[in-house]
Amino acid sequence: MLNLVIFGPPGSGKGTQSAKIADKYNLCHLSTGELFRKEMEKGTLLGREVEKYIDKGLLVPDEIVLRELYRRASDHLDSPGFIFDGFPRTLVQAETLDRLLDKKGIPISLDISVVVEEQELFKRILGRGEDSGRSDDSVEIAKLRLNVYKEQTRPLLDYYSGQGKIVSINGMEPVDRVFEKICLAIDTYLVSRKVIPVVE
Ligand code: ADP
Repeated sequence: MLNLVIFGPPGSGKGTQSAKIADKYNLCHLSTGELFRKEMEKGTLLGREVEKYIDKGLLVPDEIVLRELYRRASDHLDSPGFIFDGFPRTLVQAETLDRLLDKKGIPISLDISVVVEEQELFKRILGRGEDSGRSDDSVEIAKLRLNVYKEQTRPLLDYYSGQGKIVSINGMEPVDRVFEKICLAIDTYLVSRKVIPVVE
């Protein structure tokens, strides 16, 4: 089982890289942001509930996130592994995920941290807002989301560093180059765990 967390500020390219990683390693891609946006588009009860937070650039409360993630993950327990994208975003979420995965004997393998400079993040978020139509991709909300990231999510880097699971990747390079580096990190992990045999 390969369980990955992809971690980075809004605009760091987590979503793009996660889709490519899921495809290559045959993992179940669980993006909490994507899940919530779909519910918002469909106008479901959950969608209307989370919209209040997302449109303000705030985090959705932990109970809702954990409940929905648990539900989605339980449907895919037969998958060769997961890539968690946009989750965990708070310490409570990270600790709950660890407890859950430990109980199942399938702990997080690696935490991939995508590093991008702040100026570049703004440029990307605002550029993306023009075509994505995402309600939270405006200048003011982007600033708030970055602050929320710094206050509530960035501390998780210390949490995962303490477990020796962080791999930092420079996310300023072109998409394919970033992807190559992520694959190298994953393959190195798999070889070290002897999941991929080394050719002598
Ligand atoms: P980005 O990383 O570009 O902000 P996401 O798609 O990951 O985009 O998240 C969009 C929004 O969805 C967040 O700003 C937040 O309001 C909500 N959200 C997504 N995942 C979580 C989570 N794990 N905990 C709380 N809120 C979340």
